Amino acid sequence: MRLVMLGAPGSGKGTQAERLSKKYGIPQISTGELFRSLRKGEQLPGMSLPQEVIDEISSLINNGCFVSDDITIQVIENRIALPDCENGFILDGFPRNIPQGEALDALLKKHSIHLDAVLEIDVPDDAIVDRLSGRRYCPACGRTYHLDAKMPTEEERATCPEGCRNLIQRDDDKPEVVKKRLVTYHDVTEHLKPYYKEQGKLITVVGRKKLEKTIRDVDRALESIEKNRIEA
Ligand code: ADP
Repeated sequence: MRLVMLGAPGSGKGTQAERLSKKYGIPQISTGELFRSLRKGEQLPGMSLPQEVIDEISSLINNGCFVSDDITIQVIENRIALPDCENGFILDGFPRNIPQGEALDALLKKHSIHLDAVLEIDVPDDAIVDRLSGRRYCPACGRTYHLDAKMPTEEERATCPEGCRNLIQRDDDKPEVVKKRLVTYHDVTEHLKPYYKEQGKLITVVGRKKLEKTIRDVDRALESIEKNRIEA
């Protein structure tokens, strides 16, 4: 299964991507997560970037700006070439604009593979601002939680080097930065919706307040895709 997750920051696409990654046994590739791990001083699997590029990436993401298409596409190209992507992957946070979408199409073509679907999680802006104010991040294991909706489970605590004890708010989840990211989502990323609709790949699910309802709708939406894939 090869999926692209589309949705505004805070729409819950990362939560669904993480769950689907376990369900299908394929990696979740989050560009935001990869960039944050660089900021923590880790190198990316399969590639190494000079420190000045890493410093530039850190400053861009702290301010809610996009990392350059060149670097982002290079990171994705290296990542999807790794052996764990052989049976599929879930892209979370990429593509984020039309040039990245076109670059992804070219990359898939080069490797003679195709996307099964682009899953959009649609949530109104006012709900997003509320949600992001409660979003927290564990710097030790990189998982994302929510004060009201998704605190660490026993299993997550047990597999985190620091037991998910110190949850922090991301700099880019502060309200001023969130507003800027939402404007960018509508102005830039949403153009990918007609782009993928034309390719017949877009599936939209409404992101609801109750996580279980969103999970049910996402699973239903993907059932037919999975069936077609198996039959093909
Ligand atoms: P969210 O989806 O909530 O905005 P992410 O964790 O996906 O958060 O991304 C965090 C930041 O990483 C973005 O605000 C941006 O600075 C950078 N980033 C992530 N993906 C991309 C991308 N495809 N292109 C450019 N920058 C990106």
